[in-house]
Amino acid sequence: MPRLRLVGSDFCDYFTEPDQAREGYQKVICAGYVRDYPLTIRHASGRTTDVLYNATVYRDAVGHVQGVFAAARDITERKRVEAELARHREHLEELVLQRTEDLARSNRDLEQFAYVASHDLQEPLRAVVGFVSLLQQRYRGQLDQKADGYIAQAIDGATRMQMLIGDLLSYSRVGTKGSAMEPTDSGACVRDALLNLQTSVAESGAVLQVDPLPTVQADAVQLTQLYQNLIANAIKFRSDRPPEIHIGARHEQGTWLFWVRDNGIGIEPQYRERIFLIFQRLHTRTQYPGTGIGLAICKRIVERHGGHIWVESEPGQGSTFYFMLPGEGENL
Ligand code: ADP
Repeated sequence: MPRLRLVGSDFCDYFTEPDQAREGYQKVICAGYVRDYPLTIRHASGRTTDVLYNATVYRDAVGHVQGVFAAARDITERKRVEAELARHREHLEELVLQRTEDLARSNRDLEQFAYVASHDLQEPLRAVVGFVSLLQQRYRGQLDQKADGYIAQAIDGATRMQMLIGDLLSYSRVGTKGSAMEPTDSGACVRDALLNLQTSVAESGAVLQVDPLPTVQADAVQLTQLYQNLIANAIKFRSDRPPEIHIGARHEQGTWLFWVRDNGIGIEPQYRERIFLIFQRLHTRTQYPGTGIGLAICKRIVERHGGHIWVESEPGQGSTFYFMLPGEGENL
């Protein structure tokens, strides 16, 4: 623009927001400076440029304001990059949302599938066990010895399958048939679990120490089942000493840390994660009975409550199963 047309014009009119420009100018006069003051310049052609202004006043020897030094930095490119970044971020958020939804749906489908499969498999299996048992009762000794052996093995296999399917069903029920979370006295859950286990507690001569336990947001039936599985294992995997079981909890940074400690056979370090997987066991059925579902159910219960579970153990020295549940409180 020719100098003559500039002289005497109001500089605020060079911007798309003249009032904002004026305000900026007043700020420079009052405060002595502005830093990164955003404005949009409108060129004579009508094109616009986003800029950031930095300006300071300059004074004469006695301190009177003589004028303003101002420099504008073109931030068009920065704005473009910022806008592009924002677009990418939005797209990413959409993708994450979509994937989370997909995962949740496929989880629900799988859960439903496991439930229906295990539930519907029970019926025909019951018929198989029933008829093979009949065959055994009515025809024992009438076929040859080999046939009797085959029948016995068929019953054994089918009964075992019944047990596994029952376990699968209980496992999938943790997700599909859980009750609402409500304030639950975990001490009462331990008492209920011990009541259900009273025979094996008595037979094993187990000595129990149960510390005061907190009230937490939980599904009481599942918390009882969790304790029952852990205490049953503490008894089952005992060493040649009578089982000593210590149950306690303490509050730690917005969470409750619970433990069930035993003096049993312990677990080798390399198996400490595997034991929480479904049907994973470290012993044969003749050494210790079981199907390997107990800890997988414990893990599922704890995770449904927003917590996690792990074990610390020394082979031959005992194991401590810890689980953490979110919850406010103070130590008991
Ligand atoms: P199960 O008791 O039917 O074998 P679990 O899922 O409860 O199934 O346990 C998986 C495996 O973890 C067990 O077979 C055992 O080897 C190991 N385990 C669980 N609890 C203990 C414990 N308290 N002490 C030593 N080993 C344990």
